[in-house]
Amino acid sequence: MIIQLPENVKYIIDRLQTDGYEAYAVGGCVRDALLGRTPDDWDITTSAKPQQVKALFPHTIDTGIVHGTVTVMLRKTGYEVTTYRIDGIYEDGRHPKSVQYTPKLTEDLKRRDFTMNAMAYNERDGLVDIFDGERDLKAGMIRCVGEPEERFAEDALRMLRAVRFAAQLGFEIDERTRQAITKQAGLLAKVSAERIQLELVKLLISPHPEKMEDLYRLGLSAVVLPEWNAMMETPQNTPHHCFSVGEHTLEVLKRVRQDRVLRLSALFHDVAKPECRTTDEKGRDHFYGHPQVGEKRTREIMHRLKFDHATTEAVCRLVKGHDVNPEPDARCVRRTVQRLGVDCFPEMFELKYADLLGQSDYRREEKLRRLEQYRMLYEQIMERKDCLTRKELAVNGRDLLDLGVSSGRQIGEILDRLLQLVVDDPEKNTKEYLLGYTLENLFIR
Ligand code: ATP
Ligand code: MG
Repeated sequence: MIIQLPENVKYIIDRLQTDGYEAYAVGGCVRDALLGRTPDDWDITTSAKPQQVKALFPHTIDTGIVHGTVTVMLRKTGYEVTTYRIDGIYEDGRHPKSVQYTPKLTEDLKRRDFTMNAMAYNERDGLVDIFDGERDLKAGMIRCVGEPEERFAEDALRMLRAVRFAAQLGFEIDERTRQAITKQAGLLAKVSAERIQLELVKLLISPHPEKMEDLYRLGLSAVVLPEWNAMMETPQNTPHHCFSVGEHTLEVLKRVRQDRVLRLSALFHDVAKPECRTTDEKGRDHFYGHPQVGEKRTREIMHRLKFDHATTEAVCRLVKGHDVNPEPDARCVRRTVQRLGVDCFPEMFELKYADLLGQSDYRREEKLRRLEQYRMLYEQIMERKDCLTRKELAVNGRDLLDLGVSSGRQIGEILDRLLQLVVDDPEKNTKEYLLGYTLENLFIR
């Protein structure tokens, strides 16, 4: 098996070997190269100690020196070079308490999570694959290195990583590894929200976001995203749906682009359906108010998982607006786009199409036609550059100050009133008209 190493990687390995050290490309890059994918980054593992690595290369950065990692800079690119190590005990199921260097490559490979991630390669020795990683890779199997239960007890995040890799590669998780996850899922409670968020996002933006179902089946979401369990367990007895809330969500996830905000909004668009569900006397389910409550829940969940503010707000706007269907005329669409926020378009349409196609085919033609009208009117509005924000108004705060309006609060109120006026009738967006209107109706000296 031959892997084409990039020139820089060859250079680093050569340089280390010339001085009598061992060095290999290792982990994710070897896995990806064997799969015929281009690795994002190439990690190198070596018998040299960090100080010895630093002595050989003119430009290095002490990225993770306590864990034995030095970043070697070759022109503008960084390569992480890590000394062979054995991880100490993961006392809290989170961090190894200590790391210990070892002269043996095999010891370093043993500490790695899955067989497919525990292979090393250089040109001198070829592939070093002591756990049959290549076989598992061919079989599309994710399997722990060593005893799964022990490995998950050391670091519970590995359970989530197993599902994430399954989603990225379209693989299955080996039966014994699955069983260990089911048994130990509870340990995930000890892992930090930041680490969970990173893995959850990787899973969501992968080619197989429907592996979210595994999160439920394996008992992992019960610990980190109980809202997802509620969704998986909420039926929808309505002609609009043929799936549970969770199954419908899986359909929507598959149908939106591999984009962070879109996939998160697909995941959360119906998050409040379980709590908003009512059943009428005919036995039919309704979910009144679920977009508004959903916005609130989404904000709570994303806050809990320590998402940044901008992402959270972008997702919340999509959740809130996903079920809004304005009358098909330009004025109603302008009002809607302005109210929901022009920034969440055109993504809103992508979410709405996916949502619709993930429903039963009850009235599908009619719904699609309606959505198409909404989208076409939106596009015309954008082409005409109709005013939808305060910024685009023909008057600004300065103009109102000149008119004699003095308080900031009043200026804000007037601009909002003018914006409503102009959103209803774009031809009114002239300075002359708006100042006149202000003097006559909004501002009494
Ligand atoms: P990607 O970069 O696509 O997320 P990767 O396999 O490179 O995938 P990283 O998180 O970058 O994953 O880790 C690099 C390597 O370090 C892995 O391939 C694996 O060998 C090892 N590794 C990472 N995290 C763990 C962990 N929690 N437990 C054991 N080994 C790990
Ligand atoms: Mg990596």
